[in-house]
Amino acid sequence: MGILDLGNGDLAELLDVTYTLRKKYKGNTVGVQILTNGRSGNCSQNCAYCAQSRESKADIEIYRLVSYEKLSRDGQAVKEKNLARHCIGLSGIRFSDSEIDEFAALVRDLKKEANTHICCSIGFLSPAQAKKLKDAGVNRINHNLNTSRNYYPRICTTHSYDERVANIKMLQDMGFEICSGGIVGLGETNADVADMFFELRGINPQSVPVNFLLPLKGTALEGTGTAHLTPEYCLKVLCLARLMLPRSDIRCAAGREVYLKGHEREMFKAVDSIFASGYLTAGGQGIDETIRIITDAEFEYRVNH
Ligand code: SF4
Repeated sequence: MGILDLGNGDLAELLDVTYTLRKKYKGNTVGVQILTNGRSGNCSQNCAYCAQSRESKADIEIYRLVSYEKLSRDGQAVKEKNLARHCIGLSGIRFSDSEIDEFAALVRDLKKEANTHICCSIGFLSPAQAKKLKDAGVNRINHNLNTSRNYYPRICTTHSYDERVANIKMLQDMGFEICSGGIVGLGETNADVADMFFELRGINPQSVPVNFLLPLKGTALEGTGTAHLTPEYCLKVLCLARLMLPRSDIRCAAGREVYLKGHEREMFKAVDSIFASGYLTAGGQGIDETIRIITDAEFEYRVNH
């Protein structure tokens, strides 16, 4: 029997065991990051959960590249509030060299102005494109596995699991820090969730975002049942993530405000990282309120790490 199959009566003990590892590697601190949508919509891919996919009918803003003003505003917020990092996500899977040059110039200016830690989610890169981003000051790249290898074809058929893994390995070999995680609630089994964490353990990313599905209106997964995403189940998933990847930042990402509201004290026994201000195409909790839930739960707000 796996951790996700444990009865809820065993949860308190599981959280205590998980907390010993969390405390050993991360102390009692929690880092906060914000996410800027660098390019929105019009993606050629068909990831079923995504409001920006070619299949999606979600009513979202569409633009090719975020303005420097917006990036700079978010960068200043990261600096002023001493947030851990500034994440920038771009829709799409392939970028032309001139698009990478254009984006790298924005990053360079942002780095000069705010000097924050920058993480990008930016599809598949060639080594030359990745080097341009590294030279511009990108510290970490996000590329999620999303689910198990076995379940993956049920959520995306336009690019493969192996392409994702190969992209991550290439970036890792170039010296990038890696952020890679997934989404729980896509219709996968408990064994799939465990398999995803086994795959991630093979990568050993610096950070592991764990999202709980928000079945957004207009996406292929609109109407997907999420009744099983109880606080207890979500906590078991987060414990599993910490036990499998004890040294990584375990980030409770999308769905935190929906599925774990009121359970922050338990959540932080596994998790040392959260987002403020929303998730690309879904809203979230403001920065000050996010910092407050950390201290209210008697954990420490980790500044600029
Ligand atoms: S997750 Fe990324 S690649 Fe997949 S549809 Fe959305 S924007 Fe495109």
